[in-house]
Amino acid sequence: MALILKVPYEEKDEAKVLGAKWNPQLKKWYVEKRKDYHKFTKWILGDKEQVYILCDYFYVVEGLHTCFKCRNLTQVIGYGVKKYFDVCNPELYGDEKAWSFEDDEIHIASHIYPLPEKVLNYLKDKYGYYESYSKTIQSSYLANHCSNCKVIQGDFYLFGEVDSPFFIDSEERARKLKLYRVPLKNDIIVEADIGRGSEDWLIEVFAQSIDLSIDGRVE
Ligand SMILES: [Zn+2]
Repeated sequence: MALILKVPYEEKDEAKVLGAKWNPQLKKWYVEKRKDYHKFTKWILGDKEQVYILCDYFYVVEGLHTCFKCRNLTQVIGYGVKKYFDVCNPELYGDEKAWSFEDDEIHIASHIYPLPEKVLNYLKDKYGYYESYSKTIQSSYLANHCSNCKVIQGDFYLFGEVDSPFFIDSEERARKLKLYRVPLKNDIIVEADIGRGSEDWLIEVFAQSIDLSIDGRVE
């Protein structure tokens, strides 16, 4: 396990002094130990205000949804995150709040970016999950599509509504989800929209859990 960093050439000495190591195959700097990640906040955040570092694994979460267009049932996916660092810009949030580590319950994320290429290919083939243009938000994003009529199933309906398959407030709803655990070779830095519900603990207890061996390495 390690965390690969994007260190500009002119900052390599600075990263090295802090303990970053060089991987000659990848031609990238990396941090070996999780307890040292916080020393590299500058490169982990880049120009972003907030990122997440997914540790060891994440989940593809499968649910069933009634297509708004053809009214047939279709499989849809979201993501599940459990073990991760939440990293915010210390200049905006203060040093103490800038880093937190979560490892309690699985939360649903509507969006994780970037995802390993192999994972995306798998999701495209298996679920009809691919980039497509949404008239509602007038831009392209990775979205679910109905397996019957191919119409895009917008994120708002899948994640924002109380009757969405990923809105978990009961054992019955949690039991309808399938959790595919995707192991990661390295921890990965991502942007994500993570929802935190008070009944999220139900997901790990009652959803059906399956190990998925997609090689999730991001290089
Ligand atoms: Zn449909």
